[in-house]
Amino acid sequence: MERIYLDNAATTPLDDEVIDCMVNVLRFNYGNPSSTHSLGQEAKTVLEEVRRKIADSLKVTPGEIVFTSCGTESNNMIIKSAVNYLGVERIITSALEHKCVAETCLEMKKLKGVELVYLRPDSNGDFDLNKLEEALKSSDKKTLVTLMHANNEIGNLLDIEKVAHLCKENNTLFHSDTVQTMAHLDLDFSKIPVDFASCSAHKFHGPKGAGFAFVRKSSGLKGIITGGPQERSLRAGTENVTGIAGLGKAWEISQEKMSEYKNHILDIKHYAIQQLTEKISGIKFNGRSAGDESLYTVLNVLLPYKNPLIGLQLDMKGIAISQGSACSSGASKPSMVLMSVLSEDDLDNKTPLRVSFSHYTKKSDIDALVAALEEIGSQFVIEKADSLHR
Ligand code: PLP
Repeated sequence: MERIYLDNAATTPLDDEVIDCMVNVLRFNYGNPSSTHSLGQEAKTVLEEVRRKIADSLKVTPGEIVFTSCGTESNNMIIKSAVNYLGVERIITSALEHKCVAETCLEMKKLKGVELVYLRPDSNGDFDLNKLEEALKSSDKKTLVTLMHANNEIGNLLDIEKVAHLCKENNTLFHSDTVQTMAHLDLDFSKIPVDFASCSAHKFHGPKGAGFAFVRKSSGLKGIITGGPQERSLRAGTENVTGIAGLGKAWEISQEKMSEYKNHILDIKHYAIQQLTEKISGIKFNGRSAGDESLYTVLNVLLPYKNPLIGLQLDMKGIAISQGSACSSGASKPSMVLMSVLSEDDLDNKTPLRVSFSHYTKKSDIDALVAALEEIGSQFVIEKADSLHR
């Protein structure tokens, strides 16, 4: 059975060039980057070249890139350290954040008494930035705003530049979880005065276990893992040289091919919207995901019937797809994101499904998905008709 992968917001397949690069580093660059001998220094060079490449694209300095193991670690480090070392007493966030931000904020409330202020999204998943401004001005407490750049479930994009300026004008720290947008959108941090951001290589055809935190030089942030002086003491522990090399290669490819990949994916996404709308009557799209102002890799659909087994049934047909964030899948309840944007009727009687694309996705993958959904959906139409006769 041919396997079709439509879960690229959860993770992406590795690029062959990334694999080749990593195998090479595994084989030859096994030195410890902290060792002073030449093998160690060669491994160190691998790290520093990747750091420079990333810093150049983001228009920041290499010292502002801190390698970590993933997006979760980067977000944890930033939020916990802002509370522990920068005196943050209040966090403004939202119910749309990824679990690794949401849970970390809750932990900071529980352990450190941090006040949490939640911005409410409307039914499209958008925030009223006037409300953010009001919240910023409503307290003298040292505040961190943490709002994601693109939502991993519904694809809504935050106006990160506007929010960064608002925070700056109000003397407030701003962290954005940019895990879904790094290497997918062109980010220029010389224009966007964000203090902290996060990245994970496996979201753009790099390996799992490698990512980075962007930490603005002037912020004074400290690490939460104590030990050696690696990453200028912001992240102790011997660096994952192979993973970071893979991150660097995946980053390089994505920078070179960003517009080519984007055009391909947008073409696929438009095709998916058109086919789904034409073939599945009553289908809707959640959040802003069907609009061109959303993250182009994500489309969140609402099937017009309740089917909690949809993921399993599609998997049995060879289609890998999620209903929401990989971190919440398996949970019986809908995610916080969907609970925030869907009506009660939609939550009770309909089925959300997240279709997420990469440049490997083909129109035939979409055809297979639509055919599978037509087949699965036809049972529901028959069942519904039967129940009307009962
Ligand atoms: N933030 C967002 C928006 C994500 O989509 C993810 C991954 O699903 C993460 C953070 C966590 O990243 P990682 O899997 O690298 O820990």
